[in-house]
Amino acid sequence: MKITRIDLADTGSPMGLATKILSVEKDIPIPMPIEELARQLDVEKIAPLTTVGFEGGLLTDEDRSTGIILVNQAAPEGRRRFTIGHELGHFLIATHKPVETGKFLCSRADMTNWSLDQTNRYARMEAEANEFSGLILIPPPILRKFIPKGDPTLEHVPMIAQHFNVSKEAAARAYARYHPQEIAVVVIEDGIVKRAHKRPTFPWISVPYGKPVPRTSIFRAKDQRPRVASELSAISPEQWVDLKPGQRAELFEQMYPQQDGYALLMLWLEVEEAEEADDDRTSAQRFKDQQARWR
Ligand SMILES: [Zn+2]
Repeated sequence: MKITRIDLADTGSPMGLATKILSVEKDIPIPMPIEELARQLDVEKIAPLTTVGFEGGLLTDEDRSTGIILVNQAAPEGRRRFTIGHELGHFLIATHKPVETGKFLCSRADMTNWSLDQTNRYARMEAEANEFSGLILIPPPILRKFIPKGDPTLEHVPMIAQHFNVSKEAAARAYARYHPQEIAVVVIEDGIVKRAHKRPTFPWISVPYGKPVPRTSIFRAKDQRPRVASELSAISPEQWVDLKPGQRAELFEQMYPQQDGYALLMLWLEVEEAEEADDDRTSAQRFKDQQARWR
């Protein structure tokens, strides 16, 4: 590898950092050699984290002259790789300052915090570290080439997870975000909506996090097979999304049951009319800017 931290000196955003790294390392293999990349960027070592209840940590100094990344060794490989990417994000984003000087400690909840539109500084830091990790492990230009042509299906998610060596949720998030169709992937635990990953142009999901999946959802169907994507099934759009007045659309669901009560549910929206400007304007605009930069 040729990349050095000097190459990254002018960049402080997750997208800027990932873009720069990939522009210098054009022939980087996939799955991304994340440990090697971290070492190349002055992380001295990657060591097991023993603090109960945390997924990852970063020990560093104020000037970030060097760093030690700590990882929960009990987590599956895909999640450990994501954690390393996340901690590398904290290390490279100079504005990230931990609660306790020189020591970042990140929980499982931190690793699932994706909303960049927040005012809490610490929550935003976690979201940025996740954004960086997602972008570096699953670079959108490489993902776009990998996604098979045609209709979206959750069958692609395990393929992406395997190809990029990431967790299924990280794969599902990237899939929802960068698939050319209007899709979202809802993460469900024990019948409760935990979170959703979507294209910024996908409408607002009206089922709040922490609430049960709608009764008419395919999620409630009896004949689910673990780790097998179901057939696509139509559902009334208002069960999941708020359409604009006068807007007509068809909504399809597809279910992928995982283990331990978890499931992924894809929502695929086909809007019948030309869409007006999105009301989630900040994210949508950011997404467009990102798309432009990747070209
Ligand atoms: Zn963190």
